[in-house]
Amino acid sequence: MAAAAASFRSVLQQAQQAAERSGRSAPQIRLVAVSKTKPISVIREVYDAGHRCFGENYVQELIEKAPQLPDDIEWHFIGNLQSNKVKPLLGGVPNLAYVETVDDEKIANHLDGAVANIGRKPLKVFVQVNTSGETSKSGVEPAGCVDLVKHVRSCPNLEFCGLMTIGMPDYTATPENFKTLSDCRSQVCKELGMSEEQCELSMGMSSDFELAIEMGSTNVRVGSSIFGAREYPKKEAQ
Ligand SMILES: *Cc1c(COP(=O)(O)O)cnc(C)c1O
Repeated sequence: MAAAAASFRSVLQQAQQAAERSGRSAPQIRLVAVSKTKPISVIREVYDAGHRCFGENYVQELIEKAPQLPDDIEWHFIGNLQSNKVKPLLGGVPNLAYVETVDDEKIANHLDGAVANIGRKPLKVFVQVNTSGETSKSGVEPAGCVDLVKHVRSCPNLEFCGLMTIGMPDYTATPENFKTLSDCRSQVCKELGMSEEQCELSMGMSSDFELAIEMGSTNVRVGSSIFGAREYPKKEAQ
């Protein structure tokens, strides 16, 4: 069996076991295979192993790759998104299912408007939260997440799915980051009268997805454990 497909199967199995340890069933956890910097042929291996959910960080890279792959892939955009890239992203990737990195009203408005212009089905979005307490370009402060979620839910062409965090600026995460995101969900649900099922948690990457699942994650984003190490240091990822 091809290396990426084999790694994918073992990550899936680890995720399933972590789900069971946390008292949930495997179908309640979504595994996003993060394929940034990886070639089409390797993504195809994981697709052929039956997977349909992939994530990319860079607009240009996703626009180039998506048309070369089957259109039943559910793409997650998980990178820093600038307003001027919204139109090319939505126009170039009709099967874009999720944007996980909405961190202010302005980008939410741009996405909402672009979906309306194209006339495609509503776009699912996560609100990205800065759980590190450090100054960082991406993520709304925990204290601002209720207001931003409220705004996203008022956008007719966006479907609010939940909260997302990366963790620390160097792309590692601590249990405190996961706890902070989970606390944000409690606050959002309480203040906006939602149930926890209406607010997913996207947290956990290669090094910590099992812990993240045990702490309530419903959407883990796993790259290098499936596809192998990337050819550049992680801090250049954004
Ligand atoms: C690259 C990336 C991942 C995957 O990281 P790995 O450590 O390779 O699993 C997850 N989430 C985001 C936002 C990323 O940029």
